[in-house]
Amino acid sequence: MNIDRLLRKNIRSLRGYSAREIPCRVKLDANESPYGFPSFLEPLSRVRTNQYPDPEARELRRWAARRWRVRIGRILPGNGSDELISYLITTFGGPVLFPVPTFSMYGITAQALGEEAVAVPLDDTFDLDTERMLRAVRKHRPKLVFLSSPNNPTGNSFSTERILGIVRASRGIVVIDEAYQPFSGSGGLLRLLDESENVTIMRTLSKVGFAALRVGFLIGREDVIEAVNRVRLPFNVSALSQAVAVEAMKNFSEVRKAVGMIRRERETLFRELQGTGGVTPYPSEANFILFKVGNAHAVHERLLSKGVLVRYMGPALKDCLRVTVGTPEDNRIFLDALRDAVATRGVR
Ligand SMILES: *Cc1c(COP(=O)(O)O)cnc(C)c1O
Repeated sequence: MNIDRLLRKNIRSLRGYSAREIPCRVKLDANESPYGFPSFLEPLSRVRTNQYPDPEARELRRWAARRWRVRIGRILPGNGSDELISYLITTFGGPVLFPVPTFSMYGITAQALGEEAVAVPLDDTFDLDTERMLRAVRKHRPKLVFLSSPNNPTGNSFSTERILGIVRASRGIVVIDEAYQPFSGSGGLLRLLDESENVTIMRTLSKVGFAALRVGFLIGREDVIEAVNRVRLPFNVSALSQAVAVEAMKNFSEVRKAVGMIRRERETLFRELQGTGGVTPYPSEANFILFKVGNAHAVHERLLSKGVLVRYMGPALKDCLRVTVGTPEDNRIFLDALRDAVATRGVR
């Protein structure tokens, strides 16, 4: 049987998200936290595994609402923010507009759902190119604009003024994906919910120590949350994940401590990268650093041969690799391997 002839047209050319397990000693490729919270697993023993989870995730939403000081009706938890991206595009459709390079799931999900994706290059400081973005907004009239700030994979936050310019020009919804907000110096843009009708915020637990749970949040005005809730699968966040996520929300000061360690370690790692010949790091407000090296592909391979896994960015960011901030020891092993790799003949 020729499967291709059965596929929807938009799926024929679709390349899925690339994530595979590569065995390594030091895993710095996926922006995971090096710090887990085993003590937060304690409530799992009380979960009734024979019953469906709370379909409305009420306790989790209550704690999330308290943590972000918004009404509970403004919170919608998802099976990771990935699921919420899919729900947003299912609910509102396209065109879907986003700057590039950015998180790949906006484009992948738009294509998977058969919606038009419009990608607008960032400027040469990796900030939003206001003129091009506004032109694209006027031309394509996107239903959804996705802005990851701080941006993955570049690490910088977009200028608030430029974000506001796009919010004002858009008739559709502007989703500000704040997956990395805890690592930035700023409190984020939740305040915009009360100032702009068309802003929606996304947050996630994945980057602060709970990637295994798959819990993300849409925080938006009640009418947006109500609309997205119509397409939500009935029990989208498992009872196990809800229980641990509640524990994380209750004890967020511990989470914040780990985030503080990662932020300090990021500054050390940045200086060390700056002091390494043939390497140019870009400033980061996230838990990873993008850096330029001659022949990124070869350096990536050499690092892997020493058991160190970082992210190769492909043609979109030629010559660049992205390294997640790990423990001080992880980072030391990475830096030693990197210095070795760039010093190797043929790599630079
Ligand atoms: C990692 C990441 C996500 C995915 O978050 P999950 O909650 O794990 O699905 C979303 N947005 C950006 C920008 C990310 O880097």
